[in-house]
Formats: sequence, structure tokens, C-alpha cells
Amino acid sequence: MSAKRIAVFPGSFDPITLGHESIIRRCVPLFDEIVVGIGYNSNKNYYFSQDRREHFIVRTFEDEPKVKVQRYNGLTVDFCKEIGAAFILRGLRTSADFEFERAIAQMNQSMAPGLETIFVVSDPALSHISSTIVRDILYYQGDISKFVPKAVHL
Ligand code: ADP
Repeated sequence: MSAKRIAVFPGSFDPITLGHESIIRRCVPLFDEIVVGIGYNSNKNYYFSQDRREHFIVRTFEDEPKVKVQRYNGLTVDFCKEIGAAFILRGLRTSADFEFERAIAQMNQSMAPGLETIFVVSDPALSHISSTIVRDILYYQGDISKFVPKAVHL
């Protein structure tokens, strides 16, 4: 029996955007299971509660049984070990993303050899979307419907 191919897509998802959704859906055929890991970072102030961030993701992937959602505390490498995931997925929008992500991936690789980080380049139509800008728009009561899945804005 071969092991299940499990990937973790870690992030804050404050809130999930169409950019995140696209990366996850494109990766579904590659894995048996994708766990969207909602991390907790004590240095961050979140706009949405963990419950709401989780709920938005669960609703968005109601139609996709391979996608699961889980919260975690601590290091992503430890979470991966705990759930038997051998892959970390990250999306790349810009060269700035790349520089940031490269360092994290290399640190993770050094802490957990064999756990591979897979980068997926964003769809050009979605590469301008970021949770940070969505939060700014929300703060000023703007319309976010072009940037997030329906579960977030309905
Ligand atoms: P973090 O707080 O770890 O940066 P995010 O929730 O902002 O978490 O993002 C999670 C992952 O999704 C990261 O790999 C990020 O680069 C990627 N991502 C964010 N927005 C987009 C987008 N518009 N297109 C593709 N990937 C994206």
C-alpha cells in the first residue's frame, strides 16, 4: 500500500482570496489530499477570527472532498509531520514573494529534510490580489466581490 500524498497549504487566509482558491484548485489533481493549514502567528493582528477564516475556506471547498481545513499552532514543519504531509504548497506572485518564500523553504528543508516545498506561480489574472489589500478595502466598506470567493462576501 503506498502512502497517501498529502500536501499542506499554509497561510493566514485573512481572508481567503480568489488567488488562494486558484492555487488550491490547480493542485488538487496532484495530491490525494490538500490540507489548508490556518496558522497562528502571535505577531499578527487578524481582521477575521479563526472561526470565520476557517468557515470561509470550508464553504469555498464544499464541492471538493480532497480539500480539508485545519488550524495549527507552531511550526509548519511540525504540523506536516503530525498529519503525515510530505509537501508544502506556496503560491508565488512576484519576485518579492520568491525571495521571502525561498528563505522559508530553505529553512524548512534544513529542519525537515524530505519535506518538499512546491511553488505554484499565480494565474496572471489573479496575481494582484492580496489579503492585505482586501482587508483595506473592507475597512473602508468597499466592494471586495471581485477578489474573494462567494463565501467571503455573501
Ligand atoms: P501568509 O500570511 O503566510 O503570507 P497568506 O494567507 O497571505 O499567508 O498566503 C498564503 C499563500 O498564498 C502564500 O504562499 C502566498 O504567496 C499565496 N498567495 C497569496 N495571494 C495569492 C495570489 N493572489 N495568487 C497566488 N498565490 C497567492
